[in-house]
Parts: sequence; C-alpha cells; structure tokens
Amino acid sequence: MNKKVALVTGSSRGIGRAIALEFANQGYNLVINYKQNQAQAEEVLEQAKSAGAQGIIVQADVSDSKAAQELVDRSVEEFGKLDVLVNNAGINKDQLILRMSDDEWTKVIDTNLSAAFYCSRAALKTMIRKRYGRIINISSVVGLSGNAGQTHYSAAKSGLLGLSFSIAREYGNRGINANVVAPGYIQSDMTAELSSEQSARIMSGISAGRLGTPEDVAAVVAFLASPGADYINAQVIRVDGGMNL
Ligand code: NAP
Repeated sequence: MNKKVALVTGSSRGIGRAIALEFANQGYNLVINYKQNQAQAEEVLEQAKSAGAQGIIVQADVSDSKAAQELVDRSVEEFGKLDVLVNNAGINKDQLILRMSDDEWTKVIDTNLSAAFYCSRAALKTMIRKRYGRIINISSVVGLSGNAGQTHYSAAKSGLLGLSFSIAREYGNRGINANVVAPGYIQSDMTAELSSEQSARIMSGISAGRLGTPEDVAAVVAFLASPGADYINAQVIRVDGGMNL
C-alpha cells in the first residue's frame, strides 16, 4: 500500500508529538525529528508503530541549513517521497526588546523561521517532481498580533505567513499547498512555565474557557494535509478557542 509520508519537525514532544501521532492514526508513515530528546522521540515512534505506521527517527537541528537538508534527504531515501512537511519545531526566549541580545534574536529567528525555510526548500525539490506536497507551518496567534516580550518570536511567527504565501504563489500550480496554523495557548512544555497569574489572565480572554491541547492543533494540521483541504492554499487558521473576541 502506498501510504503518504509526513515529516514533522520537533515531534519528540508537545504539539509536534500530537501531530505525528495523529498522522500515524490516519495511516501515514512518519519521519520523527528531534534536537535533544532522543528517548521521547523513541517513545513517539513506538506509539506510532502500535497504530500501524512505519517510521524513522532523525536527529537534526533544523535551524542548521545543512542538517535540515540532510533530514529531508534521509526522509526521501527511506520512503522514496515526502508528501507532507510540518514545520513545527520552535523555541521561545522571552525578553523585552531593549534587553534582547543579538544572540537571543538570532536563535529564535533561526529556529522558528529560518528552519522552516531550510526544510521547505529541501522538501519542495522532491514535492515538485511528484507534483504533490502539503506544507503546514506552525505559527502562533502572536504572529498575528505581536506580544510584549516576544519581539523575536512574534516576528518569526509572522514571517511564516510570508513564507507560506510565497510558496503557494510559486508552486500552487504544481500541486503544492502551503498553509499556516496559528495556535493560541496550548498546554505543553513551552507554556508550562506560565505563572498562575499569567494563566488566569490568558484564560479570561479565551471563549472556550480552557487552554488548548496539542490534539486540538493536531486535528487541524491533519485536516490541512487531507484530501478535504486540497482546495485550501495560503490560509491561516487560528486554533485558539476564540481568543479576545
Ligand atoms: P515544546 O513542547 O517546547 O516542543 C518543542 C519541540 O521542538 C521539541 O520536539 C523539540 O525537540 C523541538 N525543537 C526545538 N528546537 C529544535 C531544533 N532546532 N531542531 C529540531 N527540533 C527542535 O513546544 P510546543 O509547545 O509543542 O510548540 C510546538 C510549536 O508550536 C512551536 O513552533 C511553537 O512556537 C508553536 N506554538 C506553541 C504554542 C503553545 O502554546 N504551546 C502556541 C503557539 C504556537 P527536543 O525535544 O529534542 O528539544
């Protein structure tokens, strides 16, 4: 059976893990990527296998151009193609702009934006040949609004919109769709450090009355990769429980 193949960057934990497992449940084969947490990546692969998926784990720091290219090459070597790329790997390092170092700026931009460029450029080469590809970039609601203390992170997340729209314009006529998912506040290691005061303030602005789960995001990503979304290109879908309506 010719299963579709999905590569999810940063899929050892959090939202990426949930996306990888959703793809496994929906019958895809998987490339699981991590930077540091090998044991957690292995646990994701085990779960994916028990759902019937085949998969490989590739360690790669996707903020490094060469490593990102090798990650995509390895995926294609293993499965002969790459149908879906989810640029999910991300970090934050909150800091007010006046105190933000060049290094903090560069690290956050490299991981949240440049990595998506490196992986997309590499994936497009194989997708264009097959005249099929789905690229889904995980942005954030702060990429649409900005956020105090997150100049670098917000700029990177906004940049993913321009990246996606441009890919859609360049290759939409060759079967490539590039869309953006903008999560609100989702329970993961990234948001675990919020104080109870911060959580309460955020919750008061969420119509759903709860933080999101990684699975809330994964369901939308899987939809964008599905045939039902074939005619959706260059769109941004907020998954935020109705924030600040
Ligand atoms: P998380 O729990 O901190 O997980 C981050 C994942 O990214 C991990 O798998 C990590 O791998 C991987 N990663 C980080 N840097 C990497 C690199 N240079 N190369 C390869 N992998 C790397 O984060 P999350 O909350 O799931 O967030 C996932 C995405 O959603 C991010 O892009 C984030 O900005 C976005 N997002 C999150 C929220 C939220 O509320 N959580 C809201 C909006 C958007 P290791 O395990 O090896 O470190």
